[in-house]
Amino acid sequence: MQFSQLGLLPELLRAVDDKGYSKTTPIQEKAIPAVLSKRDIMASAQTGTGKTAAFVLPLLQLLSQDRDNDKPRVRVLIITPTRELAAQIQDSVLTYGRYLEIKSMAVFGGVNIKPQIRQLRIGTDILIATPGRLLDLVQQKAVHLGHVGTLVLDEADRMLDMGFIPDIKRIQALVP
Ligand code: AMP
Repeated sequence: MQFSQLGLLPELLRAVDDKGYSKTTPIQEKAIPAVLSKRDIMASAQTGTGKTAAFVLPLLQLLSQDRDNDKPRVRVLIITPTRELAAQIQDSVLTYGRYLEIKSMAVFGGVNIKPQIRQLRIGTDILIATPGRLLDLVQQKAVHLGHVGTLVLDEADRMLDMGFIPDIKRIQALVP
């Protein structure tokens, strides 16, 4: 299927076009319309099949259609098991969101927490986080999750394998 058939915003189609993609992958074809219609989805596909764009593109669209002009608040929370994945997702958000005014940031452990706290104070629409660091930030009252409308568990199977289930349950309890 062509990306242009999905009802995506011109700004998103332009960013996809910049990457040189014209056709969707199967998971994108199925997931993008479902996310755009705000359905809950569980999707599974191998690495390298365009999974990230399958949720990033429609979530960028929903966020930009539901703009509030105040300081950005975390409206999309993406949980992922490793810092490498968090950084990769952040890259995708920046790439696909380059023509939109959506703020995003990634937080993960193993690095100084203070710059993350400072950046969170400025505000972000999308927060990409590893579970442990997110809970640390919540405990330090550096992040408020009361406006989260969408929770994404990326690589959920791997998070289960890595023993993150108690952390994920704690995070789920913090979002409306
Ligand atoms: P992922 O499965 O999200 O790790 O994506 C794997 C790679 O496929 C990334 O480098 C993407 O930029 C690329 N990609 C995503 N969507 C498409 C598409 N529709 N056509 C070609 N490549 C894509």
